[in-house]
Amino acid sequence: MSVLVFADSSEGKFKKTAFEVVSYGKKVAEQLGTNLVTLTINGGDASELYAYGAEKVVEVKNDLASFNAKAYASIIKQAAEAQGSDVVVVDSSVDGLTVGPLVAVALEAGYASNAVALPSSTSPFVVKRKAFSNKAFSNTEISTGKKVIGVAKNSYGAHENAVSGSVESFTATLPTLGVKSESIQKASGKVTIADADIVVSAGRGMKGPENWGMIEELADVLGAATACSKPVSDLGWRPHSEHVGQTGKPVASNLYIAIGISGAIQHLAGINASKVKVVINTDPEAPFFKAADYGIVGDAFEVVPQLIEKLKAFKQA
Ligand SMILES: Cc1cc2nc3c(=O)[nH]c(=O)nc-3n(C[C@H](O)[C@H](O)[C@H](O)COP(=O)(O)OP(=O)(O)OC[C@H]3O[C@@H](n4cnc5c(N)ncnc54)[C@H](O)[C@@H]3O)c2cc1C
Repeated sequence: MSVLVFADSSEGKFKKTAFEVVSYGKKVAEQLGTNLVTLTINGGDASELYAYGAEKVVEVKNDLASFNAKAYASIIKQAAEAQGSDVVVVDSSVDGLTVGPLVAVALEAGYASNAVALPSSTSPFVVKRKAFSNKAFSNTEISTGKKVIGVAKNSYGAHENAVSGSVESFTATLPTLGVKSESIQKASGKVTIADADIVVSAGRGMKGPENWGMIEELADVLGAATACSKPVSDLGWRPHSEHVGQTGKPVASNLYIAIGISGAIQHLAGINASKVKVVINTDPEAPFFKAADYGIVGDAFEVVPQLIEKLKAFKQA
């Protein structure tokens, strides 16, 4: 018996969630008194994973150019069987939420997505998960012999725990793929919302698309991704790829700056996994202030240029 963690990567680099799931899997293995095996698929330098406790890394190298849910699920299943793993840990990103259920079906395992904490008990096996767009928690028992856990981003954190690891290569048989990405055109060359540490987001309070220059400049100064509320993308002021919220992309950044966004429940549902929220709004009664860690009651057209100036001066100093 072992715990198998899938450390996801993109273009040969581990995603931030890879370090978080390795940290999580290491502790679950300790709870179960067993060892941790970390699976990578066309991933990065395994020594980056050793720093988080991945003593045994199993590497799959093949010609898959990008994520493919069917192929990845099959590889994870084969690795879990080869390593005798009864517990499989993945992340709960969009890709993780696609691959996790497929792995669970293939292994006839119970699946708990969006886990926010280590299992509170391993017998019975109980995992705390977020539910109802982060408005509630569910303590979920997985009663099957095999278990798949999807860890919610930024919920457990990446914890350094250096070990001297080793790498083993693993050859998995690929299933016949129904679909295959021929090429990928990214929305922009900038930081993507999913991977961003900092997100600068703006809403209808910006009045029009011509005013986004300062939002982009603030994002540039901070090395942040830009995002927006739903009406802004519906109006065509910004691309749909920037729409965040319940019906848009989820954001779990370390810092989320919301400018001229009221803080409707559907917007908050997508961003409340972010750690620190800063709100800039003219209306002191805007609901977003209740969810904010820091708030500035003020006009974005006055506050944002000053913020950019101060940040530039701070960076130069
Ligand atoms: C089923 C459903 C799903 C939805 N999904 C989403 C979703 O995924 N994401 C999402 O965002 N919305 C979603 N919505 C829409 C949501 O309910 C809100 O209507 C929307 O979030 C409001 O966008 P906003 O805050 O940009 O605009 P507004 O509500 O118009 O708010 C603009 C804010 O800007 C402030 N403001 C105005 N001028 C300035 C200024 N000069 N400086 C600073 N602040 C200023 C105002 O005080 C106000 O608070 C959904 C709605 C439904 C019904």
